[in-house]
Amino acid sequence: MASLNPGRLMMARTVEHLSQRQLSELIEHTQHAHIPAAKISRIENGLVECSATDLNRIAAALDYPIEFFNMMSEDLNPLDLTYRRTAKTRISEVNAIVGEYQMLDAAVNKVTNKLGMAHRPSWIDVLAPRQSGPLDILDIDRIAQRTREQLRLESKGAVPNMTRALERSGILVVPMRSMGESSEYKQTSEGVTAPALRKGSPVIGYIRRQVTGDRMRFTKAHELGHLVLHTHHRGLTKKQMEDEAHTFAGAILMPRKDAENTISESTMLSEFVAIKAGWGISISALVMRASALGLISADRKRSLQMQISARGWRKTEPVTVDVEYPLLFKQMLGKAYGHIDSPTEVTVNSFDAVKELGVPFRYLDFWTDGLKAESEQVGVYERRFPDDSDTQMMVMPNDCPTPQDVSMK
Ligand SMILES: [Zn+2]
Repeated sequence: MASLNPGRLMMARTVEHLSQRQLSELIEHTQHAHIPAAKISRIENGLVECSATDLNRIAAALDYPIEFFNMMSEDLNPLDLTYRRTAKTRISEVNAIVGEYQMLDAAVNKVTNKLGMAHRPSWIDVLAPRQSGPLDILDIDRIAQRTREQLRLESKGAVPNMTRALERSGILVVPMRSMGESSEYKQTSEGVTAPALRKGSPVIGYIRRQVTGDRMRFTKAHELGHLVLHTHHRGLTKKQMEDEAHTFAGAILMPRKDAENTISESTMLSEFVAIKAGWGISISALVMRASALGLISADRKRSLQMQISARGWRKTEPVTVDVEYPLLFKQMLGKAYGHIDSPTEVTVNSFDAVKELGVPFRYLDFWTDGLKAESEQVGVYERRFPDDSDTQMMVMPNDCPTPQDVSMK
């Protein structure tokens, strides 16, 4: 019997947002056993061995498979994640995301190996710039065009489905539980990836709650930008990397030529609404893209942004862009541990999947937007996270666009 890897206990605790004391209380309440916080601390620091009995109690209290605690944790430096932080970002938020990303990345790679699938697409390394210092917009436009080729997208026109394009090229796109968990504070980042992790399939995690379809598309394109542009360490600051990824997202979603044919200094706000509908890009992001390409002046940009604010569109923009759902990881799990019933419905043997991947079923279920478990056919129900799907669509008023310009006051 393998023993507990101290790093894994700490990982589970941070993903579940539990202090050592809270874990001790949870064990007390659910397992009627006493493992003091001080002892949990000593176990995590490798100062004492965790007995098999204690390991069982900890695993049961957290509702994690024993296998989770036996696994080695690959060291992922939190700084290798593209998760954007601000002064307001809580450390507990970052720790939970780092922990969940590690769980996810390890699970993806196990399934990839099991299925004998190809790992990291080699074109990323081919396209990845190596020179130090920031890129200009022409460079980024060029790299984005070559990326479109690799994603088998036309060189012109809207990206019909950003998620499917990424998945076709072997990049996994997965909603993450720890992102947007608490709605009372504003999430500092809506996506995460690890460009420096050069082994295994690339994984893009994203926030699923309370985010519109156009925002999610932009987030995925932005994280793709990090994967392509920041695979090699180019001595950039975090801010420079963010700017590059943002420019890349605009460039891949709306190529320069298309933007030049669509937007000019005289484009009215109401026309931006129609462009949004055709391109699946938010009005704010379109204004930024047009400004970055020099298609609108700084004054025009400011004027448009004031109109956007005045109409309350910073919070809720008109036009609903469909939410894209990933399918690749779900289908991989179906192939590895069960069967694919339809492109969107997969049934797995949850016992095997959980044991082999060392991940609680509720995470596999969340990461795949819903997974059926074979055991449920005989009445054994797996625990799942409460459904939050109702929060992701926003209501769009029918009364926009309004053609007349709005007062600037
Ligand atoms: Zn970023």
